Amino acid sequence: MAAAKKDFYEVLGVPEKASAADIKKAYRKLAKQYHPDANPGNPKAAERFKEIGEAYSVLSDAEKRKQYDNMRRLGAFGFGRGASTSRPGSGGFQSEPGFSFDDLQGGFGNLSDLFSSLFDRGRKGGHAPPKRGPQQGQHVEYVVEIPFLVAAQGGKVSVEVAMTEECVTCRGSGAKPGTSLKTCSECGGSGNVSFGQGGFAVKRPCPACFGRGKIPQTPCPSCQGRGTVRQSRKIQISVPEGVDTGSKVRLSGQGERGRDGGKPGDLIITFRVQPHRFFRRDGLNIHVTVPINIVQATLGSRIRVNTIRGKKVVLKIPAGTQNGTRFRIRGQGVRKGDHVGDQYVEAKVEVPDQLSEAEQKAMEEFAQASGMKH
Ligand SMILES: [Zn+2]
Ligand SMILES: [Zn+2]
Repeated sequence: MAAAKKDFYEVLGVPEKASAADIKKAYRKLAKQYHPDANPGNPKAAERFKEIGEAYSVLSDAEKRKQYDNMRRLGAFGFGRGASTSRPGSGGFQSEPGFSFDDLQGGFGNLSDLFSSLFDRGRKGGHAPPKRGPQQGQHVEYVVEIPFLVAAQGGKVSVEVAMTEECVTCRGSGAKPGTSLKTCSECGGSGNVSFGQGGFAVKRPCPACFGRGKIPQTPCPSCQGRGTVRQSRKIQISVPEGVDTGSKVRLSGQGERGRDGGKPGDLIITFRVQPHRFFRRDGLNIHVTVPINIVQATLGSRIRVNTIRGKKVVLKIPAGTQNGTRFRIRGQGVRKGDHVGDQYVEAKVEVPDQLSEAEQKAMEEFAQASGMKH
């Protein structure tokens, strides 16, 4: 277990409420001061440099910082508020009144998972410590933008999905074929480095050997020693009718390839629907705004309105229609299973901004006849 580390805010010498800019400034100053190049042969500076980097990697990321602040506030590290005393045997963990360790476990899931997620978020695949035997490939999540009408009616889209795959050249070892591996000096071959705070030690994959515990004598030229490569795959996705932003589909077996004969992971697609220049959507209902002129509004008319299914529906505009009046066309909204929405048409009365002489004259006659003042 690594020695208890300092509070990240203390490490950077900034207050808890420091702005992102202040944190960056403090980091830059300290990183320059303790950079190994500026302190050759000084292991203390090197250690401090590492600490500074670790603190900055968390505090510079708004989401990680929030997680860290939450845990810190709850006393998870044995410092900060509510953690001035340390109970023996509690690993330095001190809970605030009303919070017990069990609450934390329940509320946050596994605490060390959460803590390691501070550092490993977004690093799916490729860096996981090696396990023996078949290993299922990682699930891959992707957000795919789809055109409005494809979402409304269903259809197909094709996407390029980049995935981390085991390198074919070295079969994941990271070594140039025919060359050997040596034990990683950074982690002593375990593939993990641990660090801890207030008695918590958390393991994470060793950055020097990418969690493999061994370092190639000669790195594989295809993957530069990583053992993994990023590869793009073109995938056709069937978009079910009626999907909306946030809808997901799961394509089983389309994720990253497994290792040593393990099953591939899944590809989880989240749709994001692009806006349309004419149609807007609210659940299953479609909204459009249609301009009508003052004659149509005053005397009534019939207009043709496009629907999402490419039909033109004739809509009766009654005499005396006011600006902003909404009409409903039943059943022309989005269909999803047994449900179908409606299309709402809002009339926008457009007043002419320029009148010809004849129009001006007619308008004045209208004013006279109606007794309207102007
Ligand atoms: Zn390779
Ligand atoms: Zn290592």
